[in-house]
Amino acid sequence: MNLDCERFSHEPRHCGGSANRWRSGKPRLGEPYPEDSQLRESCGIVAVIADEAARVAFFGLFALQHRGQESAGIATLDKGSIHVHKDVGLVSQVFRDQNLSALAGSIAIGHTRYSTTGKSSARNAQPFVIDTQYGPLALGHNGNIANAPVLRKTLLSRGLGLMTGSDSELLAMMLAGTQGSDWIERIEAAMKEWVGAYSLVILTAEGVYAVRDPWGFRPLAWGRIDAGGFAVASETSALRVMGCSFYEEIAPGEILHFDAKGLVQRARVDIDVPHAACSFEYVYFSRPDSVWNGKNIHAVRRLLGENLAKEAPVAADIVIPVPDSSIAAAIGYSRQSGIPFGEGLVKNRYIGRTFIEPTKALRRQGVALKFSPLRETLEGARIVLVDDSIVRGTTTAPLVKLCRQAGAREVHLRIASPRILHPCYMGVDMGTPSELIAVGKGEDEIARLLGADSLAYLSIEGLSEAIGVKGLCRACFDGQYPIPIDEGFTKESFETERSAEASGYQEIAGRGQI
Ligand code: SF4
Repeated sequence: MNLDCERFSHEPRHCGGSANRWRSGKPRLGEPYPEDSQLRESCGIVAVIADEAARVAFFGLFALQHRGQESAGIATLDKGSIHVHKDVGLVSQVFRDQNLSALAGSIAIGHTRYSTTGKSSARNAQPFVIDTQYGPLALGHNGNIANAPVLRKTLLSRGLGLMTGSDSELLAMMLAGTQGSDWIERIEAAMKEWVGAYSLVILTAEGVYAVRDPWGFRPLAWGRIDAGGFAVASETSALRVMGCSFYEEIAPGEILHFDAKGLVQRARVDIDVPHAACSFEYVYFSRPDSVWNGKNIHAVRRLLGENLAKEAPVAADIVIPVPDSSIAAAIGYSRQSGIPFGEGLVKNRYIGRTFIEPTKALRRQGVALKFSPLRETLEGARIVLVDDSIVRGTTTAPLVKLCRQAGAREVHLRIASPRILHPCYMGVDMGTPSELIAVGKGEDEIARLLGADSLAYLSIEGLSEAIGVKGLCRACFDGQYPIPIDEGFTKESFETERSAEASGYQEIAGRGQI
C-alpha cells in the first residue's frame, strides 16, 4: 500500500513559516495572526476507542486547541486501513461534518499542532501516516526530540527518506524500521534511542498505543468514557469533555495498548532517568481545569500568586491579572496581600485565532487589538499587574503603557514565575537567549525597559513549593537540563538539516488512506 497523493482532496495550503517569523516581521497571508510574544506549546493529542471515534476525537481536540493552533488532524482505523484528514487551521476550520463522517471506524487518534521543529506547513500536520512492514501506522506527537538531528542523519545514512522537517515523522519512521515481535517491543526498543519530550498516540492495525517519555516532560492521561469506550488525552480536561468521569494519568515511561475491546496491555520501559515534569505546564500551558501529577492547575496557579505576594509585597489599590492565564495567580496575590482583585484589562479571546491578516493601520494598534483597558478600574489607581511569565517582553511593555493611558497612577509588575534565562529544548518555543528579556539584566533594568514602577519575579523556590511535585523540569529558569543538550541545537538548526522539505516536495495536506 502506498500513500497515494492523488487521493488527497485539498489543494496544498502553506502556513509557510517558523515561529521566528513572528518575531521578525509580519505574518504572511495564511498564517495565523500571532498572539504576541507568549510561549507556544508544541501540541495536543487524543486517542479514542468508541463508537463514532472521529467525532469524539474532534471534541477532545477542540478542548486542547490552546496547545496548538496551526494545524489539526484525525486518523481512524477501519477494517485494517487507516483513514486520515488533516490540514492547517484551527480544529473547527479543519473539520466539517462531511469529513468527520468519512473518517469511519471505532478507533481514532487526533492531533492539534504548534510546530517546535519543522515548518508550519500542511505537510507537517499530524497524525503522520505511513505504511510499514508491520502494516499501516499513524502517529501524533506532543513534545520535542532533542537528539533528532543525530537520529535524522542516521536514518538518512541508511537510505531512508523523510518528507518533512518534523521530529515526529522521524519517530514514525524509526518505529517502522525497528525490529520486535509486536508493537510494544518495537516501541520499547525505539524509546531507548529517543532523548527528549514525547507523549505519543500511535495507531496501528492492532489498535492504539499511548506512550509517555521516561522523564515525563508532558502530561498524558487515559479514561473510561461513561457511555462506553476509552480515551487518551494530553490533559484531563479533554478527557472530561470526551465523556470520561474516571481517568488515570499515564506514568513516565509507560506504554498502554488499547484495542477495540479496551485496555489490553500496560508496559513500562526500563530507562533509568530522573523525572522532569515541565513546570511551565503549571505556569501557563495547561488548562486551569486540568489535573497533572495529582495537582489541579488552577489551584497551583493560585499558590504561585500567594507565594509571589509573600516574596514581593507592594503598596497598591488593586490587583489586576493579564487575562486569561494569569487570573488564578492574581487571585492568589490578592488573597495573600489583602489588596482587592479587579478586572482592568479585557481580552478579545479570538484575535490570536484568526487567519486573516489585519490591515497596516490595525497592526499599528499592537496589543490594543487584543486587550482593552477598563478606565473605570484603572483611573487614578496604583495597580499590581500580575502576569504568569515574561519571555521577550514585547507584549508586557505595551500592556503597561495601555494601563497608564487609561489613567493608572502606578504600575507594579509581579510575575508568577522566575526569570526565563535559558531556551527550552523539550517542546516549548522560547527563542534564543538573546531574545529573552531577562538575560543579563536585573529587575530594576527590566522594569525600566517595560515602563513599570517596579517589577518582581517569583523565586525558583516559590515556584517549586507552589507546584509541590517531585521531579520538575525548571531548565528555562535555572539552566539545569534533565537531558544532555547540544547547545547548538535550535529549531532552525534542525530545519536546515532537512533535505526533502527544502527540495519543494509536493504537499499532501488533506484526506488520505493507507
Ligand atoms: S525548559 Fe522550561 S518550558 Fe521547557 S520543559 Fe523545562 S520547564 Fe518546561
